[in-house]
Amino acid sequence: MDRSLRFVHLFPELLNLYADHGNMAVLVGRARARGFAVETVAVRLGTELRIENADLVLLGGGSDREQVIVGKELTRYREDLLSAIDRGLPVLAVCGGYQLLGEYYELPNGERVPGLRVLEMTTRAGRNRLIGNVAIEWREGGERKTIIGFENHGGRTTHEYPPLGTVIKGFGNNGRDGKEGVLYKGIVGTYIHGPLLPKNPHVADRLIRAALRYRGQDDTLSALADDLEWRVHDAVLRQICGEK
Ligand code: GLN
Repeated sequence: MDRSLRFVHLFPELLNLYADHGNMAVLVGRARARGFAVETVAVRLGTELRIENADLVLLGGGSDREQVIVGKELTRYREDLLSAIDRGLPVLAVCGGYQLLGEYYELPNGERVPGLRVLEMTTRAGRNRLIGNVAIEWREGGERKTIIGFENHGGRTTHEYPPLGTVIKGFGNNGRDGKEGVLYKGIVGTYIHGPLLPKNPHVADRLIRAALRYRGQDDTLSALADDLEWRVHDAVLRQICGEK
């Protein structure tokens, strides 16, 4: 069996709010700990994305300024990304990166940053920013789990897809409908920074399993000694839920 995985990081310097690149470190660490040979590729402005070399794509968050730059560059890859996502390519998209998967992000001045239109979803900047710790409930395969982190976004996102989770504490997609993030094919979209994966190892493993399936491989993952990560998760969850 082929034991290799290739993770592609799109614009790591531009989209790296709240250390979003820590998500890549966790994916690599947890895959290597299972004996996979992991190759990471960073795609920067002016370099080429070769989608056939990606088993998983990571898109972090950025300020509005960076989002405008990345939004333009990403349109070059739209067709490639669209067909790969259709075939189940796993994508972790955080905040600004999440917004860019939709139709547009409307800036406070009314201008629209065009998105990739992978998802039927729109985002509009509100008057205030939605900032704070966030805890959500994630249900998958009959299992209920929590996901925790931090959000800071001006954009309010709305869509009709299943969310990543339902809000226990915090604002989520728009502060109104109780949804946080999106699940669509292999896409995990979310407003959760922190970064997301160090404190939520179950989400990291979900992505690694999706990458294995995308490669046509068995997606069974051995258990890891991650008690420390779970202790952090539980302690932060208790803290967030105790906040006024
Ligand atoms: N610029 C976007 C917003 O404020 C995304 C911010 C982010 O990635 N944290 O809504």
